[in-house]
Amino acid sequence: MKIGFIGLGVMGRPMAAHLIAAGHDVFLHRVKDASQPLVEAGGKALGTARAVAEAAEITILMLPDTPDVEAVLFGPDGVAEGCAPGKLVIDMSSISPGATKAFAARIAETGASYADAPVSGGEVGAKAASLTIMVGSSEADFARAKPLFELMGKNITRIGGVGDGQTAKVTNQVIVGLTIQAVAEGLALAKAAGADVAKVREALMGGFAASRILEVHGERMIKRTFDPGFRIRLHRKDIGLAMEAAKSLELYLPHAASLQQLMNKALADGLGDKDHSALISLLQD
Ligand code: NAD
Repeated sequence: MKIGFIGLGVMGRPMAAHLIAAGHDVFLHRVKDASQPLVEAGGKALGTARAVAEAAEITILMLPDTPDVEAVLFGPDGVAEGCAPGKLVIDMSSISPGATKAFAARIAETGASYADAPVSGGEVGAKAASLTIMVGSSEADFARAKPLFELMGKNITRIGGVGDGQTAKVTNQVIVGLTIQAVAEGLALAKAAGADVAKVREALMGGFAASRILEVHGERMIKRTFDPGFRIRLHRKDIGLAMEAAKSLELYLPHAASLQQLMNKALADGLGDKDHSALISLLQD
């Protein structure tokens, strides 16, 4: 299949690599030094997002935030200009559910269709092709894209129509962020009290407080290895999306609101490009 892939960062690089390794023709845009190995593996670099969408049957985006997706879709020489009936655009970035619905409607004017398919599982999951993929699309577009999703992920669920994948992802980010903060506060307490935190974590992993976050992020907090991973900057963006949704729904999310403040503080302290497990630094440093 001819596939376009735009957004070759921490996540996009390994995801695109799996599509190339499976033998698809993959068209890439904005290839930098770090993404050069994708070209060596058979990917084809093109000069504009429009050229990628013209060449591809399905164009995948894996960009940082809502304005980036809007620029790549609708900016000059953007994806929309290369769209035509029968083509499919899949946004796998984590962006606003509301904006997603508006983007899908604009893409529909070209005759192409649109799906949102944000992911969970991080860089490790992207490299291992074990991502959780949360899809918002028609049944037909889901069936069409599923073989590609299966090259990048394991737990693949169509949540509902366009935008619903992004809603699932925002939900995920609230739960993950609050759990990271819970682990950080617990481990900070154990350390301040003079306990061996590695032993505390080991013991708790056998009990009711066990979680993937305590396992993975707890270990990072103890070893103080904060290279991303998932940047606090990007997680703050996702909590911002949650608060935006809460506001429009008149919903009370007090701990998500406080997490947003903690993340603002982390950015003010220069931690924006550290892994989100570095939230513990606000308690300890
Ligand atoms: P990243 O910043 O590492 O990569 C984004 C890439 O997009 C960069 O290579 C950048 O050059 C490229 N880009 C930006 N604007 C562009 C444009 N106009 N044209 C072409 N390329 C452009 O981010 P990431 O960590 O790979 O995350 C991507 C998305 O996936 C985000 O929405 C993030 O929230 C989400 N996500 C990340 C993780 C993670 O652990 N890193 C996990 C799940 C979901």
